[in-house]
Amino acid sequence: MQLIWFRQDLRLHDHTALWHAMQAGNTVAFVTLCPEQWVLHDDAPIKIHCYLQQLDQLRDQLSALNIPLIIRHIPRWSAIADQLLKISQSLQIQTVHAHIELGVNELQRDAQVQHLLEEHNIKVELYHDRTIFPVGSIRNQSGQPYQVFGAFKKKCYEGLSLSVPSCYPMVDAQAPLAVHPLWQTEFDLASFYPQGLSTQQMDLWPVGEAHAQHSLDEFIQHGVEHYADERDFPALNGTSRIGMCLNLGMLSIRQCLQALFREQHGNFYLENVGQQTWLDELLWREFYQHILFDFPRVSKHQPFQMKTTQIHWRDAPDDLQAWQQGQTGIPIVDAGMRQLLATGWMHNRVRMICAMFLSKNLLIDWRLGEQWFMRHLVDGDLAANNGGWQWCASTGTDAVPYFRVFNPISQSQKFDPEGDYLRQWLPELAHLDTKQIHAPHAKKYQPELAYPLPIVDLKQSRLHAIETFSAL
Ligand code: FAD
Repeated sequence: MQLIWFRQDLRLHDHTALWHAMQAGNTVAFVTLCPEQWVLHDDAPIKIHCYLQQLDQLRDQLSALNIPLIIRHIPRWSAIADQLLKISQSLQIQTVHAHIELGVNELQRDAQVQHLLEEHNIKVELYHDRTIFPVGSIRNQSGQPYQVFGAFKKKCYEGLSLSVPSCYPMVDAQAPLAVHPLWQTEFDLASFYPQGLSTQQMDLWPVGEAHAQHSLDEFIQHGVEHYADERDFPALNGTSRIGMCLNLGMLSIRQCLQALFREQHGNFYLENVGQQTWLDELLWREFYQHILFDFPRVSKHQPFQMKTTQIHWRDAPDDLQAWQQGQTGIPIVDAGMRQLLATGWMHNRVRMICAMFLSKNLLIDWRLGEQWFMRHLVDGDLAANNGGWQWCASTGTDAVPYFRVFNPISQSQKFDPEGDYLRQWLPELAHLDTKQIHAPHAKKYQPELAYPLPIVDLKQSRLHAIETFSAL
């Protein structure tokens, strides 16, 4: 008997561990619900909601394949090893199959499970699945991990030109298993759904493998060729919005690559700049996953650039709150922060603007922003969120502090030239013309707008940020 342990990989298609388990014999599936761990990891309610809904669908899909699913409520990961041992012994499991997860706590959890189960002669097989290339395998000529995206990307291109990883075949149904008391209990997932989410917000994020695959296909067919031109404009629907599906594992990274190179019969051949630009974004995802593995300090609240530990971040709770609530008086920042609160998602260009505004203009510790994003993003992912924040705060990889202080007003004028995005999220400014909307109080304070004055002087704070970094 084999056991497949599902974690952030809730799908049946192209599932490395599931495929191997079912090749080896009769299989049962196992999932843990760990609410205390969700809180410790700042998982957003909307993300938990999507996870549970997807799990509900997976349960039905597994049942159609005659794979019983055992769900256990285990508040913290530290208790999983004992429970898994008991279940494995009682079902006479030969091997537990799962995918490698890269966070420090995840690695610790899996090492603990592996140690205990193997002491009792139960094998644990952990497969590489979440990234294109196994972590630890992309190295420079000195055998060291890359610390700069450009060089990492070049190495990935070389790997892809040798072969684009193909997908595992869909598994077949197994013969029904003799019923065991362990899988007879019905599990009430609804009691774990987070409270307080609006129906509107929940409706924005449909789940299901079929839906995820459909979104990917639609994007590849109609979106990717315009991606390079449209992806930076937050008022357009110019990106794939598959982040949540990738992070919860409804889609695999191999499925994305195979869809991207479908027209090229799965060969690495870039036909247009849109295709290349989207591939590069998938490689940014890849880069940050590898960074998380090679530099585990980044998942322990430490900066990638250790010298930046010397920065004296401002303790400014009122400014932080204004940023969190979209009340900074800088329209593009406020629109982004309100989009995040209302939908659980924010456009990438605006994520950069908001992150840079907090960490540079307000000089507030990037970790507070990282945490706020994680607590609200439906696609919250430790590696990508941490990488994105550290990139913006110039504490991370590819750090160039002197150049990377965006002016949010010019960014707004450039990437939302008509002010459509601002109008969507800031109704109090919706009537302003295209010139005025990006900086409504620029000429003179307009009290009738009921919109705050900027909480910081952009020019001075920019200079101050540059001085702070150059002093390091
Ligand atoms: P698309 O533009 O269609 O890109 C396709 C996929 O590529 C994305 O779904 C994502 O998996 C990956 N990707 C794209 N850009 C990046 C990037 N810069 N870094 C890493 N992966 C990328 N992405 C997350 O998945 N989770 C996060 O928690 C997260 N936090 C971020 C925080 C900050 C401060 C910044 C600047 C970026 C963050 N990103 C994060 C990266 C990026 O903003 C999102 O991946 C993207 O906006 C998701 O939208 P999409 O699915 O339409 O992406």
